[in-house]
Amino acid sequence: MLEEKVFIDEMYHNYFEIYRKPGEGHRVLIISGIHGDEHSSIYTNMLLKDHINDHMDYDITIIPIANMGAFLYRSRVSPYGGEDLNRIFPGKKNGSICERLADKIFSIAMDNDIIIDLHSCGFLCHPYILALYKHHKNIENLTKMIDLQYVIESRGTGGQLMTEVVKRGKNSIIIEMPSGFGGYIQKRVSENIFHVLLDFLENKKPENKKFYLSQMEKVRSEEFGLFFPENKILKNRLVKKDQRIGILNNKVIKSKRDGFLISVHFPSYVFKGEVLYEIAQVPS
Ligand SMILES: [Zn+2]
Repeated sequence: MLEEKVFIDEMYHNYFEIYRKPGEGHRVLIISGIHGDEHSSIYTNMLLKDHINDHMDYDITIIPIANMGAFLYRSRVSPYGGEDLNRIFPGKKNGSICERLADKIFSIAMDNDIIIDLHSCGFLCHPYILALYKHHKNIENLTKMIDLQYVIESRGTGGQLMTEVVKRGKNSIIIEMPSGFGGYIQKRVSENIFHVLLDFLENKKPENKKFYLSQMEKVRSEEFGLFFPENKILKNRLVKKDQRIGILNNKVIKSKRDGFLISVHFPSYVFKGEVLYEIAQVPS
């Protein structure tokens, strides 16, 4: 692969490495590390870049660590200005350090047909594709080429790389996978997703049944207290209304509805207003 360092500002560690494999097919960008503490997805992308080969039709670009400052700091946001990189796309050519980084990444993204942005969603979440699939047939088709079972409709948050490139006619999805604080890597899941992406780049047909889910609902704690999730629900994420999700201050927390449990808070003291679990509706 061709390797290049793109510098945004030589005063800081504000650069990223970019790997390219030219090809005749569609141009695909796979990017990770827009949030610097999401090491599971960075690991997935690092494995991927080492397995790209000339037999793949796609023209492939890989950026494993998009936000170097945040990565070195093991932090979601950049230490240079504290902005959340995934809220400021398309960036600004003459803006802040983060805005200039966003601008650089955005111009590379816009040179591609397909943009896959890898993220991490916490300790006890289940991997899923986040996509604006409902109103974009090409995006729905892309999700069908990637062998992850669950696809959740995105809210289309402004300033996200995915949302902003889709607005400009590109095909893009986010893949979320479990991670943890301080760069914790969930090795098995990261390696599974690496294989899923490798199969996609090698044009292998997905085998698993797909579930298209509505936007997720975040259910927040109504009080401060000690929370323990139920172990059973982590194995089977399809829950029924009133099924036990966990125990908060010796009281049973039940599911508000039937659905797919995307994530649950890890065992901890939780504060009033914190998200206890995220659930998405499974269409009947
Ligand atoms: Zn993220």
